[in-house]
Amino acid sequence: AQHVALQHRRPLVVVFCLVSDYPGANLRHYGFMLKGLQEVEGNLLRRKIPFVLLEGDPAATLPRYLEKMKAACLLTDFDPLHVKRAWQKRVAAAMDGFFYLVDGHNIVPCWLTSPKLEYAAYTLRPKIKKILPDFLTEFPSLKTHTVNGSPFAAPSPGWQEIGRRVADQSVLEVDWLLPGEKAAGKALTRFIGKKLPSYHEKRNDPNEDGQSDLSPYLHFGHIAPQRAALLASGAKAKSEAKEAFLEELVTRRELADNFCYYNTNYDCFAGFPAWAQKTLNDHRDDRREYLYSREMLEHGKTHDPLWNGAQLQMVKRGKMHGYMRMYWAKKILEWSPGPEEALATAIHLNDRYELDGRDPNGYAGIAWSIGGVHDRAWPERAVYGKIRYMSYNGCRRKFDVNRYSTRWTGH
Ligand code: FAD
Repeated sequence: AQHVALQHRRPLVVVFCLVSDYPGANLRHYGFMLKGLQEVEGNLLRRKIPFVLLEGDPAATLPRYLEKMKAACLLTDFDPLHVKRAWQKRVAAAMDGFFYLVDGHNIVPCWLTSPKLEYAAYTLRPKIKKILPDFLTEFPSLKTHTVNGSPFAAPSPGWQEIGRRVADQSVLEVDWLLPGEKAAGKALTRFIGKKLPSYHEKRNDPNEDGQSDLSPYLHFGHIAPQRAALLASGAKAKSEAKEAFLEELVTRRELADNFCYYNTNYDCFAGFPAWAQKTLNDHRDDRREYLYSREMLEHGKTHDPLWNGAQLQMVKRGKMHGYMRMYWAKKILEWSPGPEEALATAIHLNDRYELDGRDPNGYAGIAWSIGGVHDRAWPERAVYGKIRYMSYNGCRRKFDVNRYSTRWTGH
């Protein structure tokens, strides 16, 4: 945006449109996001770039604002999910001037990586690898914006007041992970120095602190995946470790965006591949050994301490370990009356409690677990059909399940 503004010798304003009732979001998410935005405001002001917070439906407030400011051009960030795509479409239709959509959400722009819905990681990987070097480049630094001076001094938004207007205050903020660009940078540096060297060995053990914890920062744009990929690529660590991390951060993450961008049913049963829909339909009437209401699941009141531990880790910490997320979603399929209910419950709980929820990775991860997306058919069994199964005993062979469940359930 600054490059375009400087080319045309125009002032630059950064605008954020805030809706206080974004689907699935509550105080936990807003608190993290607003504190990050407050830091953005300070960083921009130091470079003489005003930051404006608009409140209300972006499709209505933003075109009005652009008209008032006589804006020549709007640049906004790509997002593959329904809500923001609908806003962007309405804004583009309602405004005069140029409208640019920039994919800063991915390293390689989603529509360039592939023009179609990809079948699995193995079909996307070679496509990304081919063009990644063209896009995995350093960022231009933000300059002090002095052309024509600032258009005005924007009054600072009343940050605390805004927090009080958040519609859903029912899930509390967490204090173990500080929000914002600075904290994200520290988390990345710590990860590269301390955890990356053993990432390939420890990331799948829920008792270890082996993951990067970057997902909330990536979700809210407090750090770019490109920044993390640049640092990890140049780090001093074994190639297995770096490759394992870049596989998740680049291939898997960009595969999730591909899924949501090209499959408008990314959050529905109809979005599952044909073989998965068939096998789940074939097993609709199978007897379920356990059936739990959404409320029992939400409170971690099942017969399975490992599952309850995972659920409570998510509720208390706002971030379930990555390995447990697969087990967690698959058991919801096993204990629900049907796949549609399982999918809706998993999305509801994930979006409500995970700090990184309401993200393409979440929809893709849940669709992988429950609907075979990006996976293949496995030996058939009750309820799951040919969807890959995960068991308590399988987990027990991999890690200390008692240690994990005791830590999060307290018994
Ligand atoms: P790290 O292991 O350090 O990985 C670094 C980054 O790589 C992550 O931040 C993420 O951007 C990306 N990544 C890692 N694993 C995956 C994956 N399987 N698919 C796509 N990208 C990945 N991720 C979310 O960001 N939000 C969600 O709501 C979410 N829900 C999930 C639900 C289920 C059922 C499953 C199976 C996975 C889900 N994931 C989700 C993907 C993954 O579990 C998380 O991204 C990861 O655990 C976040 O922790 P981290 O940043 O410490 O990960």
